[in-house]
Amino acid sequence: MKVLVTGGCGYIGSHACVALAAAGHEPIVLDNFSNSNPKAVGRIEKLIGRSLVVYQGDIRDRLVLDCIFEQHRIGAVMHFAGLKAVGESVAKPLEYYDNNLSGTLNLLAAMRAAHIYRLIFSSSATVYGDPLTVPISETAQTGATTNPYGTSKHMVESCLRDFSAANPDWSITLLRYFNPIGAHPSGLIGEDPTGIPNNLMPFITQVAIGRRDTLSIFGNDYPTHDGTGVRDYIHVQDLVEGHVAALEERGNVSGLHVYNLGTGNGVSVLDMVAAMNKVLGRELPVRIEPRRAGDIAQCFAEVDKAEKELGWSANHDLMDMVEHSWNWQQRNPNGYQS
Ligand code: NAD
Ligand code: UDP
Repeated sequence: MKVLVTGGCGYIGSHACVALAAAGHEPIVLDNFSNSNPKAVGRIEKLIGRSLVVYQGDIRDRLVLDCIFEQHRIGAVMHFAGLKAVGESVAKPLEYYDNNLSGTLNLLAAMRAAHIYRLIFSSSATVYGDPLTVPISETAQTGATTNPYGTSKHMVESCLRDFSAANPDWSITLLRYFNPIGAHPSGLIGEDPTGIPNNLMPFITQVAIGRRDTLSIFGNDYPTHDGTGVRDYIHVQDLVEGHVAALEERGNVSGLHVYNLGTGNGVSVLDMVAAMNKVLGRELPVRIEPRRAGDIAQCFAEVDKAEKELGWSANHDLMDMVEHSWNWQQRNPNGYQS
């Protein structure tokens, strides 16, 4: 099946292209390269062993979407394109609602006009806000988001829920990611953040490679096993295989489907540092700092639903995730610019 992958040159989209090709599908990419590097195209092509059709354009541009849908018999859309930096979303809410919400509505309208009725949307565990209990199940309350990025994801979910109710012949799957890390084991593709990384893993690997001096640990007084924040880190390879499973298991089942994509394991900041120290064979320089505004103590997924209905579960353990993140960083000390 030809699958339009919006944001297909970004961190997760690039891995999705490889997973789709490995499963016998043909990814077609639409990316405006606002947060990715065209060099990713050659890397993906190397991994899939053939050329990749890539459109440089914006999901908010209806003409581009119509043109792609006219030129290709697209069977499904995996929608990764969007802005994702929490802090930036507080400073630039309009840009986030425009890109994430308006962009998705534009995509949806173009899909409807082209009679393409399968959509997989990149949502986030951030829609759960600060959870009342962990592990978090798909039925937990959503909407108490704490920043415009999270709110934009929740708004898109609400729009897709209403749209699905009015268009029951569509298959729409919301995948709520926990914390994707790691990279393709080849080290050819991986996460390449611009500027100072907000997220823990790219910050750790940049300290390890010498691009940054010290890892700041934001708070060691949370009610967790060692006082530092606990998250559910999932290998990006597992995450994208979850997308292929969703496409294959739910793509022909109409309705709105919602799944958590996580491992179900809670890992603290100190657990992560210890895993990286083991891989490096040396100690990363760290410093305890005050809590980061807006952070929650812990967040990890209940994973039974995806396991039962998609036949999918995460396979890679924490050491795989850390080793593959480090392999990518070592081979590409300055990301795709290296
Ligand atoms: P990314 O920034 O690496 O990839 C997004 C890609 O979309 C980039 O290549 C960017 O250039 C492109 N893009 C952005 N706006 C676009 C537009 N208007 N038109 C066309 N292309 C556009 O991000 P990622 O980590 O790969 O995340 C992919 C999706 O998953 C995002 O929607 C993100 O919100 C969601 N998500 C990510 C995480 C995470 O931790 N990485 C967690 C939960 C959800
Ligand atoms: N974190 C940290 N130092 C950093 C970046 C993150 O201590 O430089 C902590 C953060 O406080 C949280 C965990 O690492 O407890 C995961 O943070 P990340 O931003 O990667 O994910 P999110 O908080 O969005 O789930």
